[in-house]
Amino acid sequence: MSGPRVLLVEDDPAIAKSIIYTLERDGLAVTHSLLLCDARRQLSQHPPDVLILDVGLPDGSGLDLCKEVRAAGSLPVLMLSAHDEEIDRVLGLELGADDYLGKPFSPRELLARVRSMLRRARMPLPASRAIGGTSPFGIDLGGQRISLQGKPLPLTRREFGLLLDLLQHRGRIRSRDELLGAVWGSDSDSTDRTVDTHIKTLRAKLQEAAPEHDYIVTHRGMGYCVEI
Ligand code: CA
Repeated sequence: MSGPRVLLVEDDPAIAKSIIYTLERDGLAVTHSLLLCDARRQLSQHPPDVLILDVGLPDGSGLDLCKEVRAAGSLPVLMLSAHDEEIDRVLGLELGADDYLGKPFSPRELLARVRSMLRRARMPLPASRAIGGTSPFGIDLGGQRISLQGKPLPLTRREFGLLLDLLQHRGRIRSRDELLGAVWGSDSDSTDRTVDTHIKTLRAKLQEAAPEHDYIVTHRGMGYCVEI
């Protein structure tokens, strides 16, 4: 049986070669495209488990393909960019990329991020279930949705990840580092403040759906916890 499949879209032959070597040595099956047009064909004919996507390509911008892929589903996307330009990073993440690496990067770092994306994509929960029997939360992993008292919550991908992690560790305090690692990946450039910002919007959405409750409890200096 072959390992998880990666589609790599990268026009720099030296970088592509080192990525392919690293991933294949770790048991991943890599398909390589030099151009967006070929990548689109690969995506429709042989859908991969992870997409690694360079921004600057000869026939267009990887950001466009990232947007298309996100509109079509939840395939994990790791963006690569030559200059680590802040604008690419922000754009990539806004367009729905799951992670971002600026060149140059170490192959080990890339592998760690791909592995963490694969782990997150295969969270060990059945497709749909309520947490702990009496929980007001229902999780639909396949559809990447969480409902509260039977009503679907309008969550962004990161808010979904945060709430899912907190529910999976219900009653336990999760530190900002743990949440960063679980939702953004352990090597992400995001900071504690990113977690706080997303918790704030998540909390507002939960309170709008159930004003009588405050499910997310802040533990000063320690982290967050869901209490039901
Ligand atoms: Ca390039």
